[in-house]
Amino acid sequence: MIYRLCLSCSVVAANADTSHLDAEDELRVTAFLEAAGLLALVGEQDEAGYWDCDCCGWTQIGDPAQRWETM
Ligand SMILES: [Zn+2]
Repeated sequence: MIYRLCLSCSVVAANADTSHLDAEDELRVTAFLEAAGLLALVGEQDEAGYWDCDCCGWTQIGDPAQRWETM
């Protein structure tokens, strides 16, 4: 299973650092990552136009998606 995460969520997935999130997003992001289990960064994928982060749900515009694979 591959998830597409925004850069913000990737920081949390990589470092468990949620200091840049507000309280509501922190709850959503940590709940997603707990449910997903252990994730490994696969790489970056350029997305054309809009895409939604699988983790926080925010719509991303122009930023590459970080691809994380469940282990
Ligand atoms: Zn996100």
